[in-house]
Formats: sequence, C-alpha cells, structure tokens
Amino acid sequence: MTDQSTPTSGAGEIPAYDPAAVEQKWQARWRERGTNDTDLAHGERPYYALMMFPYPSAEGLHVGNLFAFTGNDIHGRFQRLRGHTVFEPLGYDAFGIHSENYAIKVGEHPMRLIPRNIANFRRQLERGGLMVDWRYQVDTTDPDYYRWTQWVFLQLYKQGLAYKKKAAVNWCPSCKTVLANEQVVGGECERCGTIVEQRELEQWFFEISRYAPRLLANLDTLDWSETTKTAQRNWIGRSDGARLSFDAPTASGDGSVSIQVFTTRPDTVFGATYLVLAPEHPLVEVLTGEQQRADVEAYRERTRKQDLVSRKVSEKEKTGVFTGSYAVNPATGEQVPVWIADYVLMEYGTGAIMAVPGHDERDFDFATVFSLPITRVVAGDGDDAATPLDAAYTGGGRLVNSGDFDGLGVDEGKQRIVEWLAALGRAEPVTNYRLHDWCISRQRYWGPPIPIVYCEKCGTVPVPEDQLPVILPDIEDFRPDDSGVSPLARHEEWYYTDCPTCGGRARRETDVSDTFLDSAWYFLRYPSARRDDVPFDSEVTKKWLPVNSYIGGNEHAVLHLLYSRFVTMALHDGGHLDFEEPFTRFRAHGLIIRDGAKMSKSRGNVVNPDEFMDQWGVDSFRTYLMFLGPYEQGGDFRSSGISGVRRYLDRLWASVHEAEDGDAEDGVLRKLHQTIGKVTDDVGRLSYNTAIAAMMEYMNVLRAGERTVRRAEVEPLVQLTAPFAPHMAEELWEQLGHDRSIFDSGWPEFDQSLAAEEVVRLAVQVNGKLRGTIDVPVDTDRDTALAAALAEPGVAKFVTGEPRKVVFVPGRLLNLVV
Ligand SMILES: [Zn+2]
Ligand SMILES: [Zn+2]
Repeated sequence: MTDQSTPTSGAGEIPAYDPAAVEQKWQARWRERGTNDTDLAHGERPYYALMMFPYPSAEGLHVGNLFAFTGNDIHGRFQRLRGHTVFEPLGYDAFGIHSENYAIKVGEHPMRLIPRNIANFRRQLERGGLMVDWRYQVDTTDPDYYRWTQWVFLQLYKQGLAYKKKAAVNWCPSCKTVLANEQVVGGECERCGTIVEQRELEQWFFEISRYAPRLLANLDTLDWSETTKTAQRNWIGRSDGARLSFDAPTASGDGSVSIQVFTTRPDTVFGATYLVLAPEHPLVEVLTGEQQRADVEAYRERTRKQDLVSRKVSEKEKTGVFTGSYAVNPATGEQVPVWIADYVLMEYGTGAIMAVPGHDERDFDFATVFSLPITRVVAGDGDDAATPLDAAYTGGGRLVNSGDFDGLGVDEGKQRIVEWLAALGRAEPVTNYRLHDWCISRQRYWGPPIPIVYCEKCGTVPVPEDQLPVILPDIEDFRPDDSGVSPLARHEEWYYTDCPTCGGRARRETDVSDTFLDSAWYFLRYPSARRDDVPFDSEVTKKWLPVNSYIGGNEHAVLHLLYSRFVTMALHDGGHLDFEEPFTRFRAHGLIIRDGAKMSKSRGNVVNPDEFMDQWGVDSFRTYLMFLGPYEQGGDFRSSGISGVRRYLDRLWASVHEAEDGDAEDGVLRKLHQTIGKVTDDVGRLSYNTAIAAMMEYMNVLRAGERTVRRAEVEPLVQLTAPFAPHMAEELWEQLGHDRSIFDSGWPEFDQSLAAEEVVRLAVQVNGKLRGTIDVPVDTDRDTALAAALAEPGVAKFVTGEPRKVVFVPGRLLNLVV
C-alpha cells in the first residue's frame, strides 16, 4: 500500500521529503501504538529523563522552552536507543503570582485562564515531537496534585520543620505580597519594578537552615554542572568563625548585658574599635541613652521602610546612629562605642558585629564617615605595627598591636585567640551559614491553602491527612489588598470551619504556599500521577528515583534546586523515601539569543516556533536548535542557518531512498565507525552541535562524487539522526523495511577496530639506500608521506634542502634523491 502523503512517481524517482506529512503520520502512529508510553511497572533498565516543567503563560510556548525540552528529549531518546526504558514526563507549574498577576491584568479568573493556557501549551508541546508519556502529566493547580503538596507541608510540620513567626519581610506594595530576598533586585520587585518595603508579618517558614551542613556536604557527591554547584555553595554560604561576647552596662546604669557577635576574623579582635547592632536588635532598647533616643527611634523607623536586599549592598552610603552606650572589648579591655546601622541584619549571624575598620572595607568606610578609631592589627609584607592605613588591609600577614599574640600568622592567630577567649568564657567557635529559613507564606489567592486551622481551644491544628485537599475556593474577588492578609480571609464561608480536634468553631489559615513548594516535589509525583490514594507509590519510586538526568535553566540553580533537595531530605528523614538527593545528574542548558541580541517582544526579535516549524518542518527546527551552539552554553538563532540543517535531512532522505543493497565500502565503513564513536560520545555529553557536525561530515563522505550509497552505510546514520529528527527517522526506518519503531531498534554498535585508520609501513630511501621506515595511514598521499619522512631524524640527517626528486610508491616506498 502506498502512503498517499509521500507520493511516488515513476521508477527511479524518489518521493520528495514532505515534513508536514511525515510528522502528522508519525505523531498519529505514536499515539495509536503507544510508542511513547512507558511501562513503569515492568520496564527494564529504567531511566528517568526529567526536564524542568514550564509555567504555562498566555503567550504560549517560547522558543527557549523548546530549546530546553528538545535537548532533554534527545537525551531521553538516546538512552532509549541504548536499551533503557525511558520515562520522560511533562507537566505544568501553573500556580503562583505570575499567573495571578496576568489574570488580574486581563480581568479574567485564573481558574478559567490557566486551563486554556495549558491546552495551548499541550498542543504546541505535542507538535514538538517530544517522547513524553502524557498519561503522567501533572498540573500543580489540580486538587489531585495540591492535595499532596498540602500533605508535604503536613509531613514537614510533623517533623518540626514548619513553624510560624513574626518576621521582617520584603513587601511589594504593588503586588501586595511578600517577596523572597532573591525576588528583590536592586531594591525593586523583580516582577513589577516597584520599590520594595519592609513589613513585620506572621509567616510560615520551613527550617531549611537546619539542613545547611548536609545540603552543602552532599554537593560533592552530585554529578551536576559546576556552575550550579558553585551557586549553591555560595548561597548556603558557610563561614567558620567564632561567637564573641562583649559586655555592656545598660543605659539606665542598673545592669549589664552581653552582646554576642559572630565574626570570621577573631584574629582581629584587638582591632575591634566599635560595635554595630542591627536597628531591630532586641538590646537596642536597653542600650539607648535618653539623649540618643529620638535619633535612634527615627533611624529604626527609616530602616523599617527599606527592603532587606538593598540594606546589604556594600557600595551604598554608610548611615548609622550612636546608642550612647559602650561595651568592653574582651581582648583589650577597652571601652568601645555601640552603634546601630542598617547594613547589619538581624537575619544574619547574631544581628551584631564587632567592627574592625583596619581590616574590613565596610567598617573602614563607616569609621571614616563617623570619625571612629582605626587600628592596625595585621601587618602585611614590609609593614609594621605603625604603618598607617589609608584603606582597610584585608590581606594576610602577622598580627601586631595584639598583645601576646603579636607575630603570629593570621590563621594561627584565629585559633589561638579563640582558645584564649574561650577559656575566659568569652568565645565559642561556630560555623555560620548564610542560608535563611524558607518563608513559604504568600498573602495571595492563587496557590494551595496552607492546611492549618486555628481553634480558640486547641490552638494551631493541622488539617488531618484524610481531610485533604483543603480546596482553594472558586471566588470572584481574588484580588489582593493592602491589609497584608490573603483575599481568602474575606470569604467567611471558607474562613470559618470546624476544628478537626474538638469540633468547635475555628478559622482557617488564609495564606497559600509558595509556588516553589509545588515544584519542590513534582518529580516524585510523575511516576505515581495516576494514583489517587498516595502521593507517590513506594515500589514505583524505588524503581524510578532518584532522577537519572535533570535538565533545566541555571536561573533555578539556587531556589528550585535547593528547595527540591531540602524537601527530599526531609521526606527521607520522615521515612517516606530511601534516598536523600533527588537528582543524580543535573545539567544547566544555555540560552538562545537572536541575531546577536537577547530576544524580547519590544525588540521584535522573538522566534515564533510555529512559523519555523511550518516552513521547515519540526525535525529541521529541532535539529537546528541543537546546532546553534553547545547546548550548555546556548547560541545565536539566525533564520538563514536552518537551511543547512534542512539540506542535511534532505540528503539523508535521498540517500535512504537511493541506497543499493550491499556492504559498506572500506573507506566509508571507517568513517562510519568514527562517526558512530563521536556521536555516541557527544550525545552522551549533551554536545549536540558537534554530533550534528560529525553526521554532516559523514554525509559528505557518503555522497562524495555522486557515488551510489550502500544500505549498510546509511542505515546506522538514520539511527544516529533519530534523536534529533524522530519523525523522519521513523519514516526512513519503515522505508528500510522495519516494522517496529526505530526507537526500539538499538543504537549502532561502535567498533574501534573498524574506526582505526589502516596503517602501512613505508620504506624510506635516500639516494636508493634504506634510511628508515614510517607508519602512515593507508591512503596517505605523497606530500604527507614526505613530511612524515623528513620528521624522522634518521632520514633527516641525510637530507639538506629540498630533495631534487621524490619517488612515491603508495603503500610501499618513498625514495628521495638529494
Ligand atoms: Zn511587585
Ligand atoms: Zn479545637
């Protein structure tokens, strides 16, 4: 039976390659045959190829999404061809402020808007030819999904990892919600650009800080992109140092307090000439003198209006106020003034620092502005105790002006000074982390309600697991207001409920959880997405997790990837999982730009994937995206470039249709095996662009001089091309007489001995006398052989200048007449 979509004409002529017809045919066939369905229960050699799921925006699929997904799809298809049962699921990260803000902007309810966006995304994703098993799709806004997100919250609550506290938070007055520190950029809301303020709110937190040492240590065991690991290390921010105590009499004079400071430079304590407390520090109250009270209060008020991120910016102008009190430096016994300043944060360390202006740039600037004493306690090469400081000296050297410790190196000084002060009860060695607890409360509508109720009699009561999900009500009035309370609080029929413990009147928690909680466990859900009785089945989870390969954007290097690791560790500790790291291997993909510039709507240079797929075909588009540059770096999309890739596919199409039966010719066979070796290696490393280049190079050999292509020469090339151009590969595979999917055909066997260049030994004579031998590839030409011969010292010493005559007998002899 002839396929009507690929018409054949007379004998000898080959049908034209019609991408649209081929793609439609094979997508339909994949659906009919269940080609992309993964047998999760019985599949052998399971391989979980995960990609970061998209946020289904109203604009539809971005070319960046397709770039990311295609790269993962090629990896998944490659692993399948190599004999794995591959699971390549996809879903939608559809809760959160992006969706909600967009819904507000266009005046539509997110419960109506999101399903439409998802349907559009699904259509575009299917068109992209991904090997996704859609039976396991997840949607974070589906109650069947967020029921288990709430379950995850309850497990962490049970383990004492979820707590509520009043805290200073970043508040966007326009989005009317709390922002994480990383969502504040240059003092502005990352989403809307409004200046961010600080507010005090009761919030739910996850105690991720408790896991900081483990999150850091485990990084060494993971096969992840180095850039991603470095970003996490910096984010966790371990610093080794000491906690020192400085005693200070209270301002009223009737008592004394101990101010704890954390420092990574205890070796410089002799140079601590003043202390700085965060304006919110609880001791500020008792340390502030009557004369200073008004100034201190005004300063504290001003600080409250700032966001937490810009407070830390080191270049900004130093401001601060003296409290009127003095503390005693435990090393020198001297009185040092106590100040408050906004660059010290309550959230980091102890909320107080000892200032060492001689050896810390920020302290130096502060001391200069307020004329505070600056003492040198470290001398570098060529300096001594008296060398003046016109800037902070932060290098190494010997301690000076440091009593008995003078002359010690910085590292030894650290240790010895801490030992000494510890013996006096004034120091304790500590390791500190920059990682803060994760604030998961959002005073918004579009998220899973946090499953907690408050009862007057019983207090805080977790919703029992068998009463999940706490359904997000479909309310028309979902807009946030200025109250700092979620819109859910305005809906009494939802807000008031019965206490699960005593049955009395209780009210619900009205905050919803952070979108990052939805995505911190979705990879656990995919293999069990069809189960409605458990969040994840233990047998299936054991078989399929941890994830073998995870691919995604490096913009998620710290948040999503760190939260996923934390939640996995916590669930492991709660006895729910038998592994504690979710992603064995992670690779960050690069970004694509267009014609040398970042793609943006305002520039009008956004690539519309549909347009290119219409014109060139999906397979050409996929292959071209991978050909733009190294996958982990990205590349520059130029519309003209795609024609070269299409030409390769056209030539492959023609070669298969023209191929004659028969074995591969020797030279072609060698090139074929070299190509198999290179493509196998490259695709395994996600070096897709070089793999494509190797296949193109082989194509040139295959068709050199209009030679007739043999079937054995081209059949393996169809398999190598299959991950990139899956529809065409299936069509050609069928053309070659196979009736099963090419993706179940195996990967071409690489034979090292066939790939090796065949070598012959040439006798080298000078004026007819044998002077040596050289080993060269069998098809070496005269000039190459001559160069190799002249590189032999045994030959070269008989040759000066150009030989007068060269006699070359290929494969046998080279005679130089000099
Ligand atoms: Zn905002
Ligand atoms: Zn109760």
